[in-house]
Amino acid sequence: MSEGSTEKTAFKRVMLKISGEALMGDQGFGLHPPTVERIAREVKSVHDQGVEICMVIGGGNIFRGLAGSAQGMERTTADYMGMLATVMNALAMQSALEGLGVFTRVISAIRMDEVAEPYIRRRAVRHLEKKRVCIFAAGTGNPYFTTDTAATLRANEMACEAIFKGTKVDGVYDKDPVKHDDAVRYDTVSYDDCLAKNLKVMDASAIALARDNNLPIIVFSLDEPGGFRGILAGSGTFTWVGEGK
Ligand code: UDP
Repeated sequence: MSEGSTEKTAFKRVMLKISGEALMGDQGFGLHPPTVERIAREVKSVHDQGVEICMVIGGGNIFRGLAGSAQGMERTTADYMGMLATVMNALAMQSALEGLGVFTRVISAIRMDEVAEPYIRRRAVRHLEKKRVCIFAAGTGNPYFTTDTAATLRANEMACEAIFKGTKVDGVYDKDPVKHDDAVRYDTVSYDDCLAKNLKVMDASAIALARDNNLPIIVFSLDEPGGFRGILAGSGTFTWVGEGK
């Protein structure tokens, strides 16, 4: 689709979930500002169409609790460090979006009032109504969870119509498409199949929470320029996880 397309989207309010690794570019670690800006432009192009946008960004480019605990750290402390990593990513995305003229709020599940707003559901809804992008940081605020679950939780609370999970590949495959040439992409797949076949969509608690609230998860490639806007308009390649379209 060309720049400046006026193609309309059927969605009014969505959750975009991306992993922390999406922000690190080819560096293998941390934040790569040009990559953050590229993703911010994708978000802006959807925002420009009047779609209300929630975002959750993981922290895996900086720190993962499980990796820390595997190296001997106490698990809950390691998880809190992981949650703090997500705040850094959220601030980087805020800076990139505001540099493009998009108003945002970083809303943290762990209080740090000098840095981010505390999470107050009604206030967050108001921000969305005022067309501010809400970047939800610090996961659920609880150890033993992931940002996939945080994204599903906040998407439910904010009454988002779907979760858009931006990944490196253009959907959900029966096996890893990077390693297997014969991997087959699903157009649609049910929540129960994701769980039963252990498909790499989101972790099991996030899928169960989406299933119990009938919240579709749309898996698409974040590397495709214009991809997010295209998927919202119903074009491009993606996998729809849910109970039928
Ligand atoms: N985390 C947590 N509770 C949450 C969300 C995240 O403890 O509600 C921690 C957990 O240690 C996790 C880390 O934050 O490994 C980073 O999040 P995640 O692994 O989901 O990031 P992603 O893989 O999406 O980059």
